[in-house]
Amino acid sequence: MSDKLSDVETRLVELERWLGRAVGDVLTAALAVEQPGGDSPAWDQMMVGLEVARTEAKYRMIAASSTGQTHGAAADEVDKALEIIADRAKASLDHIDPPLSGPVGRHGQQLGLMITNIRGQVVAKYRGIVVPARGMFAAALASAANSQTSMPTAKARVLLCQNCGGPRLDDANFVCQFCGDDMAAQRRGS
Ligand SMILES: [Zn+2]
Repeated sequence: MSDKLSDVETRLVELERWLGRAVGDVLTAALAVEQPGGDSPAWDQMMVGLEVARTEAKYRMIAASSTGQTHGAAADEVDKALEIIADRAKASLDHIDPPLSGPVGRHGQQLGLMITNIRGQVVAKYRGIVVPARGMFAAALASAANSQTSMPTAKARVLLCQNCGGPRLDDANFVCQFCGDDMAAQRRGS
């Protein structure tokens, strides 16, 4: 591999790791918010840092509760955060400008595909965690019967890669999609 190609490869790996860390940080901060559609200092800082335009808190919370969300920042805000992160990653990839063929070119194409899909993938994962599978109708019934029972007892977490900080998004796969590390081996401490 020429010096120029190995430099491009290094920058692709760095961008993947940046993307993993950015997405992992958003998910971690969003999931730690207790009130559905609510806020926390960390989440507010995230929204300010990414320059996400925010809806007034009471409307966010009404909207989040109406979807059956039990905890976590508003899914719309998670979606906006991912849109901005994906845009930044795409701009970085365009700047790296990988070749069109060869192993480095294929790596660039794979990363481009991941950037295209990351927003939908993460938001689906997030909704799967914060909106219980029992559905809106059952959630509304439980809420009407006893507001205490609709509160989450244990917060679902997302597994983060110890190598790059990226979240595990595919329940069927333990290989980190951002850095390629084996997250199962990380948990075994090897
Ligand atoms: Zn990783």
